[in-house]
Amino acid sequence: MTMLRRRLTINGIVQGVGFRPFIYSLARDIGLVGSVYNTSDGVKVELQGNITQLDQFESRLHAEAPPLSTIISVDIEDITAQDDSEFTIVASHDNTSVSTLISPDVALCDDCKAELFEEKNSRYKYPFINCTNCGPRYTIIENIPYDRPFTSMKHFPLCKACHTEYQDPGDRRFHAQPNACPECGPHVWLTDQKGERIESTDPVSKTVELLLVGKILAIKGLGGFHLAVDACNADAVAQLRLAKGRDAKPLALMVRDLATAQTLVYLSQLEIETLGSIQAPILLCTSKLDTNIAPNIAPGNDRLGIMLPYTPLHHLLLSGKLDTLVMTSANFSEEPICIDNDEALTRLADLADFFLLHNRDIYLRTDDSVVMELSGEIRPIRRSRGYAPRPIFTRRKGPSILAVGGELKNVVGLSKDEKVFLSQHIGDLENLEAFEFFKMTIAHIQRIFEIEPELIVHDLHPEYLSTKWAKDQNIPLLGVQHHHAHLAACMAENSLEEPVIGIIMDGTGYGTDGTIWGGEFLVGDPTGFERKAHFEPMPLPGGEAAIRSPWRIGLGYLHQVFGTNLPDIPALKDHDIQPIIQMLNANINSPLTSSCGRLFDAVAALSGGRQEIRYEAQAAIEFMQAAGNRLGSDYSNFEFQQSESEQTISITNVMHDLVQRIQAGKNIESISQWFHYSLIKTFTSISLELSRETGIKQLVLSGGVFQNNLLIEGLQTELNQAGLEVFTHAQVPTNDGGLALGQVIIGQNYLRK
Ligand code: ZN
Ligand code: ZN
Ligand code: FE
Repeated sequence: MTMLRRRLTINGIVQGVGFRPFIYSLARDIGLVGSVYNTSDGVKVELQGNITQLDQFESRLHAEAPPLSTIISVDIEDITAQDDSEFTIVASHDNTSVSTLISPDVALCDDCKAELFEEKNSRYKYPFINCTNCGPRYTIIENIPYDRPFTSMKHFPLCKACHTEYQDPGDRRFHAQPNACPECGPHVWLTDQKGERIESTDPVSKTVELLLVGKILAIKGLGGFHLAVDACNADAVAQLRLAKGRDAKPLALMVRDLATAQTLVYLSQLEIETLGSIQAPILLCTSKLDTNIAPNIAPGNDRLGIMLPYTPLHHLLLSGKLDTLVMTSANFSEEPICIDNDEALTRLADLADFFLLHNRDIYLRTDDSVVMELSGEIRPIRRSRGYAPRPIFTRRKGPSILAVGGELKNVVGLSKDEKVFLSQHIGDLENLEAFEFFKMTIAHIQRIFEIEPELIVHDLHPEYLSTKWAKDQNIPLLGVQHHHAHLAACMAENSLEEPVIGIIMDGTGYGTDGTIWGGEFLVGDPTGFERKAHFEPMPLPGGEAAIRSPWRIGLGYLHQVFGTNLPDIPALKDHDIQPIIQMLNANINSPLTSSCGRLFDAVAALSGGRQEIRYEAQAAIEFMQAAGNRLGSDYSNFEFQQSESEQTISITNVMHDLVQRIQAGKNIESISQWFHYSLIKTFTSISLELSRETGIKQLVLSGGVFQNNLLIEGLQTELNQAGLEVFTHAQVPTNDGGLALGQVIIGQNYLRK
């Protein structure tokens, strides 16, 4: 057969992830000669052999690529054959101009795990074992290029043995920047609350002993500290809740292995794969009833957040007497997670009894990610460790944009060409620490991806800290309506460009008219939108403060519909309703909102559900769970009021039907089933009407309310049956954690015009 030579230019996440050694062994395995080398355009591979061999290489390239790599494109050109006799890796002369995509941090791989528990191995029980396929990446990078001197591993010169592995293309630690062993690498130690070292030959076993007697441990991990307690010890869990200022919100668990997880929760095949994935997120899944874990881990919630150990240290902690730990971000309330030893000893002194510290610095705090199977797909609730900073790829190259996100669950986005880099979860921009973290993350991402934004996009809300910060920069600005950003985000991750109908069901978002929106039907694309329909604006007595008291919202909705002639509602009997009614009558401090999240709060509270919430969306979550995953057999229609350009979805007759049901003694289970079905029917009929009017058949669903499984699943089914094509979020959160993606796309379109 004729000898052919081809040059492949491969782009994507292909550096620092074991890509060249993979190419090397693949080419040798197939019997091809040639070379592989890095260039500023990507990894180049020259291959020489017969056509069968070359074709085999291309198919195996995609099928067998290393776990951390992502191939975005392969350009192939035919070139003249040469007289190579073998395949070689050509060392890079300078990698300064190489445009590298940095890998997220990933869970310990099986090979390293095997070595970790192999007594004769030099890294036996070494808490920092890693290789080219696993370990820290994003959290330890200080600058580019991604090389050891620019990471927090710079303090640990490689020993001879590690150096040999690092340099050997045949070794699975070839160019593994965080490579380390007990001889040369980082180590762990234990201290008390004051930072006094507790001498022990085995600090990890000592930690387990302390956990077993009910102590709270602050444990330094990959992207920050966790607070850990024995999950079977209700007293320890209660103490942890008290210390952390978190009285009801569910706490995440880390379990030894899949088998342990299955004693606690029901898992689908998809959920099993997700738990064991290299991202190793916290998975929210349905808990079993008879478990031995403490009842105060997720009170009143039928879901548990579970993750598997993802660092060698976690595996060591869970390999002995303990198989289930509470592992929650080490912070007080909603402050950012702690990352630094001294910072931890100061900030967590009142929270933890002991500290398990190590000396590999964390440069960028990164919380655990949270995902959930909703309507048959795994969807991020919080996209952070394991996912960030892997870019979202857009269809077209665009100008560089900085999107500063919203206020709650803040995530920032920076774009370059066809890539949108979304930051890890920054959190609620409500305290100084979070705001510092926000600014630091923007600077960090700009530096490591070499991005100079031409435009900053911010939310229209004038009071958001992110908006205020954006306005202080010396870069052109664009304010974007909150729900328009939700719509654009869902379009972007589904590669949609033509106008769509957006069903945006959300908590709070600043509208173009200065009122609070949140139950919106928009028609548009990234260049603009029309508000076609929305829920009737309802009063929020007491403003944002009412969000903590769903019964007040319920009362506000009732008052709007029934006026002073309020019906008897058992759930309102125990509340001091007179001051609220006066507030509503006088129309004092009762801003109007079309929010779907608030509608859920109102209905939940009036039906006897949660009256006061202790974490975000608690009333809505419990109300949904009350339905037992079933829709009602009957529903009520919301009525519409048509004005010139938009429809108002009136709440009136649904409130009447609700009151009737409550007074007839229907339980919350049946009311929840009826209410969900009523929303689904209403949303479908509005969608069909808008589709007829505009000719558009593609719909996007976005906004925090679509974390409601019953709603998203039922609505998708109903819309599909009506012949409409439905797109949802699976790459970025449907909540405000996804806003920055939409903001970037809107900004790019704005600059193109
Ligand atoms: Zn490994
Ligand atoms: Zn070493
Ligand atoms: Fe939102």
